[in-house]
Amino acid sequence: MALNYLDSAESSVLLKTRRYRVCGIVQGVGFRPFVHRLALKYGTGGWVLNDSEGVLLELQAPEQAISGFIDELVSRPPPLARIIDMREVARDTPAPRYEDFEIRKSVDLAYMDTIIPPDANVCEDCLHEMHDPADRRYRYAFINCTHCGPRYSIIHGMPYDRAQSTMRAFTMCPACKGEYDDIDDRRYHAQPNACPDCGPHLQLTDRNGLPVETSDVVSHAIARLREGAIVAIKSLGGFHLVVDARNETAVRELRRRKRRDAKPFAVMVADCQAAARWAFVNVHERALLESPQRPIVLLRKRPETLPDAIAPCNPNLGVTLPSTPLQHMLLEDPAPAGAGHDER
Ligand SMILES: [Zn+2]
Ligand SMILES: [Zn+2]
Repeated sequence: MALNYLDSAESSVLLKTRRYRVCGIVQGVGFRPFVHRLALKYGTGGWVLNDSEGVLLELQAPEQAISGFIDELVSRPPPLARIIDMREVARDTPAPRYEDFEIRKSVDLAYMDTIIPPDANVCEDCLHEMHDPADRRYRYAFINCTHCGPRYSIIHGMPYDRAQSTMRAFTMCPACKGEYDDIDDRRYHAQPNACPDCGPHLQLTDRNGLPVETSDVVSHAIARLREGAIVAIKSLGGFHLVVDARNETAVRELRRRKRRDAKPFAVMVADCQAAARWAFVNVHERALLESPQRPIVLLRKRPETLPDAIAPCNPNLGVTLPSTPLQHMLLEDPAPAGAGHDER
C-alpha cells in the first residue's frame, strides 16, 4: 500500500496520524470520555474536542490500532450517542508527536451544526445510588452521570460544556470534581455533575410563592397530594401539574382550574406492574413504557380503573413511567398514581 504522506515524527516509528470528524448526537452523551478510554485501550496519542459541528478527534498510532479504535467507536458508541456521519478530514499542519491523549478545550465555531442531545432518563446506576442510604447522593433529586440526566433543558448553547448550561451557577465541590476528572469514574466529564453539597436543591412553595418549611420536600409534597392538593413541579422541559389520580375530586379541580373539560390527562405510575392495575399492558406496550424515551403510551382501560375524569368517555388511558429522579421519589410512596398534564 502506498503511503500518501508521512511526516518525520510518524516515519520514525511507523505511527500514523489521522483526524476524524464525527457528527450526530455526539455531545452531552459521554462521547469524549468514551473516546479517551478507547485511546488508552488502543494506546493512541492525540486529542478529542467538542466544537460547533460535533466532535473532532486526532489519533496517532500504528495503522492497526487506529482501525481497531475506529471500528469500536462506530460499532459500540455510548448508549445515548447517535453517529450520523463520521469521516476522515485533512490536517492543516504536520502532525506533532503526541506523548499521550487528552480531552481538549471545546472550540466555538462561528456556526452551529450539531444536534443538542435530549434529556435522558435517569439510569439504573444513579437510581441505585439514590436509594442507598450510605451514598452521598441518597435521595438527591438532581443525581445524574455521563449516561443520564438533563441535557436539552439545561443547555444554553453548543458546544456542550458546563459553562454553556444552567449548571454554570453551581461550582463542583472537591468530591464531584474528583469524579469529573477521573477517567475510571462513571461521572468522568459529566457536565451537570452535582451533589447535595454543591448542586441545586428542591424547594417547595405555597400558592403565594412563599417557602414551605419542611425537612423533606418530597414527603411533604406526597402528603399534600394525598390530601387532594394540586402540586406544580418545575421539571425538565416545563411544569407538571400533578394530582393524585385516584382522587376524582382533585382531578376535577385540576380540570376546572385549567378549563379543560375533556382533554385526557396522562397518568404516571411507578412501573409496568402498577400500569397493569389500571390498564391492559401487552409485551410491545411494556417495551414502549420502559424505553429510555419514556413516552406516554395509550393503553386500554380495565373495567375497574381510575376515575373517568382522567380521560372522560375514552377507552384508553395515557400511561407513562417516571424518568427523572424526583418522579421516581414521588412514586415510591405506596400511593400509586399521580395524574398530571404536561405544560411543555
Ligand atoms: Zn446515571
Ligand atoms: Zn458535589
